[in-house]
Amino acid sequence: MMHLDEVHGGEAVAGLAQLVAWSQAPARALGRFEAGRPPKTLDEMYACATSESERASISDLLFGSVTDVLDRYLPDRDRHGALRGMLAFLAVNATYRGPATPGSAAALAFGLALPDENTTLMKKLRGGIGSLTTHLREQFTAAGGELRLRSEVTEIRVEGGRVTGVTAAHGSTADAPVVVSCLAPDLTMTRLVTPSAVDSEVRDRFATTDHRGSYVQMHFALDGAPEFAAPYELLNDPSMQAAIGLFSTPEELQRQWEDCRRGVVPADPAVAFQIPSAQDPGLAPPGKHAASAFALWFPVETDHADYAKLKAEMGRRVIEKITRLAPNFAGLITKHTTFTPRHMSTMFGAPGGDYCHGLIHPEQIGPNRPGPTGYPGQPLGIDGLYLGSAGCHGGPGITFIPGYNAAQAALARR
Ligand SMILES: Cc1cc2nc3c(=O)[nH]c(=O)nc-3n(C[C@H](O)[C@H](O)[C@H](O)COP(=O)(O)OP(=O)(O)OC[C@H]3O[C@@H](n4cnc5c(N)ncnc54)[C@H](O)[C@@H]3O)c2cc1C
Repeated sequence: MMHLDEVHGGEAVAGLAQLVAWSQAPARALGRFEAGRPPKTLDEMYACATSESERASISDLLFGSVTDVLDRYLPDRDRHGALRGMLAFLAVNATYRGPATPGSAAALAFGLALPDENTTLMKKLRGGIGSLTTHLREQFTAAGGELRLRSEVTEIRVEGGRVTGVTAAHGSTADAPVVVSCLAPDLTMTRLVTPSAVDSEVRDRFATTDHRGSYVQMHFALDGAPEFAAPYELLNDPSMQAAIGLFSTPEELQRQWEDCRRGVVPADPAVAFQIPSAQDPGLAPPGKHAASAFALWFPVETDHADYAKLKAEMGRRVIEKITRLAPNFAGLITKHTTFTPRHMSTMFGAPGGDYCHGLIHPEQIGPNRPGPTGYPGQPLGIDGLYLGSAGCHGGPGITFIPGYNAAQAALARR
């Protein structure tokens, strides 16, 4: 707060406080951290408002844009530019919409929601996110579970309206009366479940999910620490290097999104950059560093023929941008890799490379996001099948809530 006050001024502090207050009613309406509870209906969402202005903020959640909200609370495009850029990036990275596009405010409210007032949402794990999955695997196998890694499920078998198990590539099978799918709900319902077992209206609803994630994710092996030049020397403090935002203004982000839809790579992309080894030295050999960059917008609607060229161009732009701030950065890179959504889709089976398993658009959140047994009022119609991925209510993000909800639903059936 002191930094905010000194650098951006008292108006920015007040505006940010008003923005956080704005987000409270939409956060209650969304209930993204309410484990074990179904999403609210639209009427129930509006019933979360305690005043007319809260009703209006719930309307923003459903119909408004990020820019509508920022213009209200942080209107000064110059003095509030950095904050506006950061908040716009926080929101639209989980959408296929520019910040001025109606419907983008949903992702701002989603990003600002906290489980409770004492919680900070973002935590970095020592050893990286893989240490979490290793821990879970150990817990699971210690409890007697059997995990078959690198076994691609090709079919969830259904007979007479009941799940009977799964078939994996190379023909191995597992018979089971209960299957919890942690793959994207639409992938589960349109590609994996025995096609004749899915009602056509149910299949059609899942099939419309928007997955046009539009980013690149880059990883770098560095031969030393990047050195940020004036006026950004503050970023040389390792405690600042867990999350460095090299953002664009909301106005630029909007233009870049519109350009990306026409197949144009942004000349100066917005980048979330981090050097996790600065705080967690075990992530790189002594004297070396591991860094990553996530950047918007990659033209995902482009033909296959142009894709590789655009990927190389976008990667170059990201490196150039970081090097403008830390002039030794490009020279430190010993290896780097650039993943587009298409790579993410191939590697992790997330449709369109969409790590949300369903972007955060108003038509894909709250009552418009499925739960363990389907969309509200439109059950899957398959006994023993449960959905537990980030594409379900409670997702996306590493919250465990969709999986918890699916497990509770499966246990309640017995
Ligand atoms: C670059 C990046 C940064 C992110 N940053 C954050 C962050 O800071 N905070 C946050 O909360 N979230 C973040 N996320 C989002 C978060 O990672 C996802 O929301 C979350 O991982 C989704 O969890 P999930 O278990 O539902 O699905 P996934 O993590 O997608 O897991 C699905 C698993 O199923 C496997 N699989 C796919 N198809 C098959 C098949 N046919 N058979 C068998 N297995 C299959 C996949 O290999 C994968 O292991 C980020 C995502 C990315 C890509």
